[in-house]
This record gives sequence, structure tokens and C-alpha cells, in this order.
Amino acid sequence: MKEPLIYDLSSPGRHGVTMPEPDVPLTELPADLLRDDLDLPEVSEIDVVRHYLRLSQRNYAVDRGFYPLGSCTMKYNPKLNEDMARLPGFAAVHPYQPLETIQGALAVMYEVQQWLGELSGFDGISLQPAAGAHGELTGVLMMRRYHLDRGDEKRTKILIPDSAHGTNPASTTMSGLNVVEIPSDDRGNIDLGALRAECDNTVAGIMITNPSTLGLFDENLEAVIAMIHDCGGLVYGDGANFNALMGIVRPGDLGFDVMHFNLHKTFATPHGGGGPGSGPVGCLAHLSPYLPGPIVGANLDENGEHMPGDYYLTMPQKTIGRVKAFYGQFGVIVRAFAYVLVCGSDGLRHASEMAVLAANYLRVRLRDTYHVPYDRVSMHEFVAEGHFADAPDIHALDISKRLIDYGFHPPTNYFPLIVPEALMIEPTETESIETLDAFAEAMLAIAREAREQPELLHDAPHSAPVKRLDEVAAAKNLILCCRPVFNVDEGK
Ligand SMILES: *Cc1c(COP(=O)(O)O)cnc(C)c1O
Repeated sequence: MKEPLIYDLSSPGRHGVTMPEPDVPLTELPADLLRDDLDLPEVSEIDVVRHYLRLSQRNYAVDRGFYPLGSCTMKYNPKLNEDMARLPGFAAVHPYQPLETIQGALAVMYEVQQWLGELSGFDGISLQPAAGAHGELTGVLMMRRYHLDRGDEKRTKILIPDSAHGTNPASTTMSGLNVVEIPSDDRGNIDLGALRAECDNTVAGIMITNPSTLGLFDENLEAVIAMIHDCGGLVYGDGANFNALMGIVRPGDLGFDVMHFNLHKTFATPHGGGGPGSGPVGCLAHLSPYLPGPIVGANLDENGEHMPGDYYLTMPQKTIGRVKAFYGQFGVIVRAFAYVLVCGSDGLRHASEMAVLAANYLRVRLRDTYHVPYDRVSMHEFVAEGHFADAPDIHALDISKRLIDYGFHPPTNYFPLIVPEALMIEPTETESIETLDAFAEAMLAIAREAREQPELLHDAPHSAPVKRLDEVAAAKNLILCCRPVFNVDEGK
């Protein structure tokens, strides 16, 4: 059946809401606020409900199916977190309220700061940054300020392994420092020889994505950290994918000086479509004075307890300043609070263990069919090649598009750059063995199709509302208007 477009249903005088009788005097609306050019459809409530439900069904979401988009941690986000974030005491507070009226909100922020510190081994935490990349920029600016503060002005180099997340070089460049790329060795670790060659008194630091975008824990991590520290540099950790390590190893104990978390990934906030996020930064004591603020502090009573009324806001002594208006992404912080409270420390560790187990299960199920170039025990994700020697016309993109027909979201494609035709697969800890098996079966079936019916892959997806798009144009020239500007049924 052809789906009606909302404009086709418009009929003059039809409406979807009944306004209550006004309890204020009526006045004319200023004529310049009335825009005839909007040409809005006049429709009833049920037409609107069906319109939006139809649109939502054209979309793919974690709540609809498996979403193994590597590095993005598209795991299930418990609905309880949503309920908590919507409690009026959290959702309706205003950032200009006097502190004595938002003690509960400050208590939540304080606890999240404490918990992140405990999980990571860091002394200072700021909840200010609004996303992972924003946390990176914050951390690099802190490193830069630390060196400048000591009169160490030569340090302008940030070393970045080629297995780092793409935001790392971008954040460094934005901070005004220079990126020097370090190659990986044949086990996917940072190449120690190449690293040693760059270690001098111009190194501001290194940014290590750990686990790397290959899904690997660097086997020489301690040597890398020591080498950087020995030449006077600082070590930044990209902790966006903390669900591989949480409750098992603490970056602060390993010698990382500063790191960001992605609350929206690890601590379960839905984050498709670019938001909302939260990228708190944690650091060891020597960097704490540079953290952005405000940070929540607490006065302890004689029993060492803190109570409502005890929470205050503070700016670290040598702060790099504010990086976000007011108090960070409060709604995401509430969700993280609820998530940690429900999981408890055992639950958080269990989440990491399951994330790692799921990734390794899929790696082993697929590795005889899809070449896994760095085939050793992985962390929360692994990278396979979407290419077969005996089906040279098939590319990673074809495999990904065909997965849509099997009802799965594609993995991350063509990243990391050091793996040709990369398929970066992150199953997350929230999927059942049945779902992992169904995905593995689909991948194996697609590998057979690649040899026997390659056109099935080339023309995929066959089942989606739109077929192959120019993805860059689709993202850059996003059409947000509900006027039919293309024919959905023909996929053009
Ligand atoms: C997602 C991710 C980032 C960036 O986080 P955003 O919140 O999207 O800015 C950085 N590094 C890694 C390893 C990531 O997975």
C-alpha cells in the first residue's frame, strides 16, 4: 500500500488539538509573525500520530535490532535511566537556581565524579565537556597549559598512533599543537622504535586510544607510557570505549595522566544522530588544578558523611576555564548515575567482561571466512576485512549494505585506515548469544552470496526505504522538510 503523505491528508479546518478557553484577554497577533509561506497541513491528531510513527519505522535503532557499529558502543540503554532523567526534580531545574535549591542535582553530580574517579584511578574529575571529542580537546588544552605553566614552551608535538580514533588528531589540531603520527607494528601495537625516534623535549604528550580502534589492548602499554614520561611528555588516554576495561583495570594506575570518558557510550545514554553526549575528563593530581569547572565539592560532617546542603561549586585553581555553559550535560549525567547505581561495581565489571566476550565470540566465529588481520584476543571490538580474494569486486560497503537486508545495522566501514576494507564490529555487552549467532550466520551467508550472487550485494539494500545514497551528500545536505522532495517508494 502506498503510504499517504501528510500533505495529501490536509483538509481546510481539520485540526488535531482543541485549545482550552483562554483565561487571558484576546489580542491580535502581530501581522509580521504570521507567515503564509509555511503552508502547514491541516490534519487531525490520528494523521499526525501515524505520520510520525511511520517515519520512526523507517529508521533503524538499537531498540529495533542489533547495531554493531564499531567504536560507537550502540548498546541497549535501559529505560529506567530515561525515567530518572525525566523526574521533574532533575528535568525541570534551572541552571540559574540558587544552590540551596539544587542540592539533589549537585549530589548526583558529586557522586558521578566520585564514581568515575574510583573506576579510573584519577584524582580529579570534571563533568563539563559535552562529548568525547570535546573531552579530548579539554584534556589536550590542560596538557598544553601544564607545560606552558612550567615555562616549557618547546613542547608542541602530540604523538598519535595510526590506530587512534579520528577525533584525536582533530582535537590536537584544534588545541594549536602539532600531530606526529606513529605507526603500528605487525601485532597492532604502537611501534616502539618509531616512538623512541620521536621522544625528545618537544613532545607535549601522546594520545593513546586504548583499546585501539583495532579493538586491541596495547601489549607494550607500560613501556610506551614510561618512554613518554621519560622525555617529559604527558599521556592522554582516549577512554571513550571504557566498557572494555571498566572494573578490571584503572587507567590512572597504569600511568595515564588524563583521559576522557564517554558517558553516553559506556554509561548508557541513547546517542544516535549526534547527541546528546557527555565527555567528562579525569586526571592525576598534577593536572587537577587545570580542570575546567565548575566542579562539585562537598563539605563532610563529623562522621565523614555529606548531606543535602553540603554541596557547593568550585573552580580549580589554575583552570583552563569553562568549556561548556553551566554544569555540563546534566541529563546524561543523571542517566550515568542511574546506570552505575543499578549495576553496582560487580555489574560494571560484568558489563566489561561480557562486552569483551561477545566481541571475541564473533571474531572466532567469523575469522575463517573474513580475514582478521590482527587476530589475537580483542577487547570490546575487532576489525575484519570486508574483502575476498576470490570475489574481488565485493567491497566492505557491499557487505554492510547487504546486512541491512538481513535486518542488522552495518558495522563501521573503512575505519581504522590501517586495515583495507575494514569492518569494525562492536557487539556490546547487551546482546544475547542468539542475536550474536544470527549476525554471524548472516555474515557467513553474505560471504557465500559474494561468490555465488554478487549482484545481490552490489544492489543492496533491497529492503530499506531508500537504496544506495550518496552518503556524504545525504549527511551534508540533509533535507529536514516533510515535503516530498524525493520518491521514497522508488528510493530516489
Ligand atoms: C566515540 C569516540 C570518540 C568521540 O566521542 P564523541 O562523543 O562522538 O565526540 C572518541 N574516541 C573514541 C575511541 C570513540 O569511540
